[in-house]
Amino acid sequence: MSGRHSAAERFPFLEGELSVGGVRVSRLAERVGQTPFYAYDRQLLSARVQQLRGVLPAAISLHYAIKANPMPALVGWMAALVDGLDVASGAELRVALDAGMDPREISFAGPGKSEVELAQAVASGILLNIESAREVRLLADISSRLGTPARVAVRVNPDYELKSSGMKMGGGPKQFGIDAERVPEVLADIGREGLAFEGFHIFSGSQNLRAEAICEAQTKGLELATRLAAEAPSTVISVNLGGGFGIPYFPGEKPLDLAAIGDHLEGVAESAASSLPGTKLVIELGRFLVGEAGVYVARVIDRKVSRGEVFLVTDGGLHHHLSASGNFGQVIRKNYPVEIGTRGMDAPREVASVVGPLCTPLDLLADRMQLAEAGPGDLVVVFQSGAYGITASPMRFLSHPAALEVLV
Ligand SMILES: *Cc1c(COP(=O)(O)O)cnc(C)c1O
Repeated sequence: MSGRHSAAERFPFLEGELSVGGVRVSRLAERVGQTPFYAYDRQLLSARVQQLRGVLPAAISLHYAIKANPMPALVGWMAALVDGLDVASGAELRVALDAGMDPREISFAGPGKSEVELAQAVASGILLNIESAREVRLLADISSRLGTPARVAVRVNPDYELKSSGMKMGGGPKQFGIDAERVPEVLADIGREGLAFEGFHIFSGSQNLRAEAICEAQTKGLELATRLAAEAPSTVISVNLGGGFGIPYFPGEKPLDLAAIGDHLEGVAESAASSLPGTKLVIELGRFLVGEAGVYVARVIDRKVSRGEVFLVTDGGLHHHLSASGNFGQVIRKNYPVEIGTRGMDAPREVASVVGPLCTPLDLLADRMQLAEAGPGDLVVVFQSGAYGITASPMRFLSHPAALEVLV
């Protein structure tokens, strides 16, 4: 075992340096004009979508959930590859519209949508995933004010959970969606208020690496939607079955068995064709589409040895990359895959910790990892960083400079 994560294969060494999209990382740092930065590789994004299309039945629409990475240039690139975009705020909605996605293929989910956000959504003609009775009431007013009925789907909090998810977002008491047993009332309200009902949204969790668990949630999601369709004010046009596809971050984690999910979805699409004829099925993925296509790059400022342990102190840290520090939803801190990008594959290796410049022991990007021996000026590369990076981090904490983002 080399100890290198499979992520390293996507960013091969060229002339003794790790590369991103064919550009050596030190050259890329010059091009960006500063460290730290995030770099996302367009070809890897395209390849991932292509890989998925290869196993997904043609009947399944593929949406990108842009909260995973809302960088406008990246969303613009993804918009040309996927069938739709899912947004979670009014600001994300603007990014999705600017990216050129057809509003008919944009949907908006999330609890606590403001009146302004609801109006933005109606004015732009996107689909709203309703999360409460309050939203129905507000949308009735907004629809009559704007003279156009809101397009709505009901986000359902299912009466089951997605097993083995990194984050559970459905089942039991939740702030997301409307409890399945209360959906019939809300459907009646939607009909009474004359909103344009289109279907259901059932998202039960995130970061799942077990194909069987994801398949089970898809089967149950379709069953639930079929049951609820009987109460709907009009034909069900679309059912969003969620996503939850995970990526391997830590030692021992295996990539998702995509072929198994593709096969399963064939069956799901067939049963939908008879139980809900004419209904479009959608899956919405965030990190699975973009997470593996990005790296975070920081420069070593200082090399310290404390009581026999090596610390590489960098200009980047948890303020840019909270997830890699282990403080974004992880229960036990584990190392993201990390390499020294400016030392060749054959460089001597040592055990070192990579830390940031913040005055907290939480500011740890690598805890006692096998890395190439490095010192000031070297570039540290954190893999699996294309999702939940910059926008999921407390960038202003300690007032250090912001990280930049580039698409290569
Ligand atoms: C966060 C979220 C996603 C994306 O989750 P990933 O783990 O990045 O795939 C998709 N849909 C909804 C409703 C979400 O809240």
